[in-house]
Amino acid sequence: MNALAIGGITPLSTTDYPGRLAAVVFCQGCAWHCRYCHNTHLIPRRVENVLRWSAARGFLERRRGLLDAVVFSGGEPTLQARLPDALADARAMGFKVGLHTAGSYPVKLAAALPLVDWVGMDVKAPFDCYDRVTQARGSGRRARESAELLIGSGVDHEFRTTVHPALLGAEDLLGLADSLAALGATRFVLQEFRPTGCRDTELLDSTERFTPGEGLLAALGSRFADFTVRRA
Ligand code: SF4
Repeated sequence: MNALAIGGITPLSTTDYPGRLAAVVFCQGCAWHCRYCHNTHLIPRRVENVLRWSAARGFLERRRGLLDAVVFSGGEPTLQARLPDALADARAMGFKVGLHTAGSYPVKLAAALPLVDWVGMDVKAPFDCYDRVTQARGSGRRARESAELLIGSGVDHEFRTTVHPALLGAEDLLGLADSLAALGATRFVLQEFRPTGCRDTELLDSTERFTPGEGLLAALGSRFADFTVRRA
């Protein structure tokens, strides 16, 4: 059976695992096609020159004592059947283990949750109009199920939503926040769209800017114990 396929590694990040120095392992492959995706090179499942977990593991061995954590990002890490092996391996090496996921595969996420210490889950849109962003039918149902699993797991986590004004408006954000809060979410991050890596010309050419008013920010903040805006 193939080992985890990796599209790239960031040797050191201070922003991908809260409060930790982390390496980021970018898993190859994703079944969704989010219009604002800035890692489009990681979407194909099969590409030439992927790294395998053994190579990443060798790199991490040399970073023991220098890094706190390893974050598995993507692409969609839970797409790959060998993810749990790599998560367990990283933890056995003494690292905290983080996971970035869109929640595309709830069953696989459930298998991964006991093996991770922190999860950052992207929430793309209100669950009933997810396809507008992901261009993948049924994605909202999967994401909702994953959000429920994550909240119920007790694993430390955050939910975050990337905003491009052409895709999400104030009503969408309030509806999405209501749904998350109703599920029991307590930490929510609003992220500004980043053009780097995005291939959607309509979004790139758009002159609309992310300028949430104080009223919207206050309304969103009132729904969560912890609310942050992350600028691009
Ligand atoms: S889920 Fe993530 S990697 Fe997949 S298309 Fe969307 S933004 Fe890109």
